[in-house]
Amino acid sequence: MVAQNAQLVTPVPGPSSQALQARRTQAVSKAVGTVLPVYVDEASGGILRDVDGNQLIDFASGIAVTSVGNSDPRVVARVTEQVQRFTHTCFMVSAYEGYVEVCEQLNELTPGDHEKRSALFNSGAEAVENAVKIARYATGRQAVVAFDHAYHGRTNLTMALTAKSMPYKAGFAPFAGEIYRVPMAYPYRWPTGAENCADEAFETFVSQVHTQVGEERTAAVILEPIQGEGGFIVPAPGFVAKVAHWCRDNGIVFIADEVQTGFCRTGDWFASEHEQVVPDLVTTGKAIAGGLPLAGVTGRAELMDAVHAGGLGGTYGGNPLACAAALGAIETMRADDLTARAARLGETLRNRLTQLADKYEVIGDVRGRGLMQAVELVSDRATKTPDPAATAAVTAACHKAGLLTLTCGTFGNVFRFLPPLVIGEDLLDEGLSIFENALAGVA
Ligand SMILES: *Cc1c(COP(=O)(O)O)cnc(C)c1O
Repeated sequence: MVAQNAQLVTPVPGPSSQALQARRTQAVSKAVGTVLPVYVDEASGGILRDVDGNQLIDFASGIAVTSVGNSDPRVVARVTEQVQRFTHTCFMVSAYEGYVEVCEQLNELTPGDHEKRSALFNSGAEAVENAVKIARYATGRQAVVAFDHAYHGRTNLTMALTAKSMPYKAGFAPFAGEIYRVPMAYPYRWPTGAENCADEAFETFVSQVHTQVGEERTAAVILEPIQGEGGFIVPAPGFVAKVAHWCRDNGIVFIADEVQTGFCRTGDWFASEHEQVVPDLVTTGKAIAGGLPLAGVTGRAELMDAVHAGGLGGTYGGNPLACAAALGAIETMRADDLTARAARLGETLRNRLTQLADKYEVIGDVRGRGLMQAVELVSDRATKTPDPAATAAVTAACHKAGLLTLTCGTFGNVFRFLPPLVIGEDLLDEGLSIFENALAGVA
């Protein structure tokens, strides 16, 4: 375990990180970017220690993955035990208990008490692809409806579902077909005002699906209950529930992509629960296994069991080490009541961000739930003109001061807060003070 205190002993990145970065440019494709090129040596809780001995405060969690912290003791114990027994059989060749147990946990924890089944994969994108396969197979329909600002992954099909061109899609056409895009109920930027957003966005959604796609041709609607990479956009209250009900009425599979929002992040096990939405299919990934690669699709038994045997799978999907890690991570989430912790620390975070918004004009919007919150930076509050330059400057200042942070958003002007759910309150506070200093320097 790394001591839970922040400290800088060199500039960030330091000489050892810079030496590794030089090596990297000769070995690693430039196409794989890195937000902050410090090379990590050890990490736990809310701290990343780099190869120069700097201890950075982690407000990124490896993009919402290490919710239970890096190398959580229960994850380490279970993976260690598993790695000594066996490392791989391929679940499609010969089975093992861990896979079944993870599916049981997913069936129990995801919204709704109907009969469910799950299948395991390696990444969020792969889970989304499989959810679409299942929906198409079960309905005999082809069209899939996705939203503005959506992010669902980088594979061919999920890239087509993703909204933003740069950096996710530019140059990578042709995209998978039968994908249709509709407006998201984005309260801050809804043309007639946030108060009209849910109703008008829902009317537009229904009308566009009806006129441009056809309900009877639509296999699935896929939605992030809080949009992630697209800008931590919380759909206007009521919108998600209306879309889900309308899908049910029209025989369309409603897929909640909870890859980023799932596993306690928003103060609930899954963000859909906030409005009592029960999706037909839920995709999970990221935080599910404390940092090991694992993802899942969970949903109504009749959908999940519709596909012919052998129709879904993959060599590594539900790898035994990843399953052991997931069982450890879920155990920690339960034992440490991380939903309650995310909600409580989320309140602290919200109070602090609201105070900052009172003080700094550059903050146009504060939004999110639990420990998935963000501020949207604008150069003018009246016009809401996005300010990606200020966002980049604040980020650079945070990094220099030893706080690892991330941005997001279609316009590159959203500064997001994604600390591990186990971060100490003192570190959360200290990180927010670094953020405030950075903001003051730019404002
Ligand atoms: C990250 C993410 C994905 C893709 O997951 P990968 O594991 O990177 O393939 C899909 N959907 C959402 C909502 C995500 O945030």
